[in-house]
Amino acid sequence: MSQINSVLGPIQAEDLGFTLMHEHVMVCASGLLQSYPDLMGPNREQRAIASLKKAKAAGIDTMVDATTFDLGRSPELLKTVSAASGVNLINVTGWWLDVPRFMWGVGADQMAREFIRDIQEGFRGTDVKAGMLKCAADADGVTAPLETMARAVARAHLETGLPIMVHSYPTGQVGRRQIKIFKEEGVDLTKVKIDHSNDTTDTEYLSWLLDQGVYLGLDRYPGRHVSPNMRTNTLKALMDKGFTDRLCPSHDCICLHIHNELPDGSIPADHDFTKANPDQYLYMQRHVIPQLLEMGASDADIKTLFVHNPRRFLSGNS
Ligand SMILES: [Zn+2]
Repeated sequence: MSQINSVLGPIQAEDLGFTLMHEHVMVCASGLLQSYPDLMGPNREQRAIASLKKAKAAGIDTMVDATTFDLGRSPELLKTVSAASGVNLINVTGWWLDVPRFMWGVGADQMAREFIRDIQEGFRGTDVKAGMLKCAADADGVTAPLETMARAVARAHLETGLPIMVHSYPTGQVGRRQIKIFKEEGVDLTKVKIDHSNDTTDTEYLSWLLDQGVYLGLDRYPGRHVSPNMRTNTLKALMDKGFTDRLCPSHDCICLHIHNELPDGSIPADHDFTKANPDQYLYMQRHVIPQLLEMGASDADIKTLFVHNPRRFLSGNS
């Protein structure tokens, strides 16, 4: 698979360039943008385009937009923002953490069929096709509805060959259970990326994950609870252990969110998330890469992390 589905159509793997493997243009909830668009604030498209234009100007060619249906995917918004900014966007199918109770009886094969259609035919009513699969579990572990989604994603992967990104919770070592499910489903673990892995500094656990064959998404910057410096120390420690060719640093940045009303009834102009990371998608270039180089990483290492690893993983040649 040397062609990858971007939101504007297929692109060649060698044209991906500098790639951030876990970002978001918008995060809300399924259907919210259609029913309550004002909750997302004014000038949504223009704000997203401005953020991504800055990214493109800084040399970011491609981003994986990890917004699933339950995170409020809008294929049309992604098309508009990609075309206007020049950043390739690759959207995902699969599921995040919010499985509505009416879906708790849905089966893994049933959902796999839906995900396969997202990949082969496109998100319903659009010509936008998914370029990656995603499933998730967090502090509650792999609950029954999330296990169904994980197995559906595994089966859609076996049918289509698309790689899988996995929202995980390293503090609880939830990746161990997620990997067990993929093994039971017969998934080649080199096609799996365990995300949010830099929410821990436990390199023993992270090395165990890597020893299973998976890629790691070190995709929370600047992040919470663990300082950015500790995140970069963890990244460099894994590079020094010889894992550079399976690490994918990214931000999990979001430029469009719901702005919550304050107690005085006003709506803040800047979201807390934006205040915490005014660099948005450029934090990596402005802070992390210079620090890695200072710590002894080479230019070739940086290219491996941001060009070669994404190309290998996204094209299914991992
Ligand atoms: Zn995310």
